[in-house]
Amino acid sequence: MYLILFGAPGVGKGTQAKLISKKHKIPQISTGDMLRAAVKNKTELGKKAGEIMSRGELVPDDLILEMIKERFGMDDCKNGFILDGFPRTLAQAEGLDKLMQHLKLPEFNCIEISVPDQDIISRLVSRRLCSNCGTDYNLITNPPPEDLKCIICGGEIIQRKDDNEETITNRLKVYTDQTAPLKNYYQSKGNFITVDGRKKIDEVQEDINNLLKEHSKQIN
Ligand code: AMP
Repeated sequence: MYLILFGAPGVGKGTQAKLISKKHKIPQISTGDMLRAAVKNKTELGKKAGEIMSRGELVPDDLILEMIKERFGMDDCKNGFILDGFPRTLAQAEGLDKLMQHLKLPEFNCIEISVPDQDIISRLVSRRLCSNCGTDYNLITNPPPEDLKCIICGGEIIQRKDDNEETITNRLKVYTDQTAPLKNYYQSKGNFITVDGRKKIDEVQEDINNLLKEHSKQIN
C-alpha cells in the first residue's frame, strides 16, 4: 500500500499514520519527524533545517527530496509506506512522481484529513509528544500522566517548539499558500478522498480503513 496522508498541521495525520502503520505493517514516513531527529542529532541537514522549522517555514525542496530518496531505499519500505507531511509543494509532488516511476512503484492513494483552522489552533497549542518514541498526547483530549513520563516508553513528554500560537499561524499560512494547491494535483489524478478529521481518533481511523478496503476491492 502506498498512501499519502494530506492535510494541514494538527489535523491528526501523524496519529492516523501510526495506526495504519501498525495495522498494515508498513512504515510511517514523516518528514517532520525525520527533520526533528536531524536537528536533535545536529547533522548537516539538521543545522540547515532547525532555524527554518522554528519559523514555521518550509525546508528547501532539494533537501527534502534527497532525504526521501534515501529513506525509500531502506528495507522496511519494500511493501509500501505512508507519507505524512510530504509532499508539501508542487516541486516535491513532481519529484515524488519521478522517484516512484524510477522505482517502478504504483500511484499513491491520497487521503485528506480535514479540520477547520480555528479547531487546529486550539489542538496544536495543547498538543504534547514523547521526546523519545513520538507518542502523541493532548492536554484536553488525551492528557499525559502528571509526571510527564510517556506511558509507552517512559520518555519525557514535551511540547514542540513550533507549537506556539505565532508559529502555528505562520504554518497555517504556509499550508494555505504552498501545500493546499496540491489538492488539485492529486484530485486530477482521480485518487484523492477527504475524511472529516473533527471526529474521534478511532472514528477517523474507521473511515480511513473503509476507504482503503473500498479501494482494494476496486483494484482486485
Ligand atoms: P510537521 O511535523 O509535519 O508539522 O513538520 C514540522 C516542520 O518541519 C514544518 O513546519 C517544516 O518546517 C518542516 N517540514 C516537514 N516536512 C516538510 C516538507 N515536506 N517540506 C518542507 N518542510 C518540511
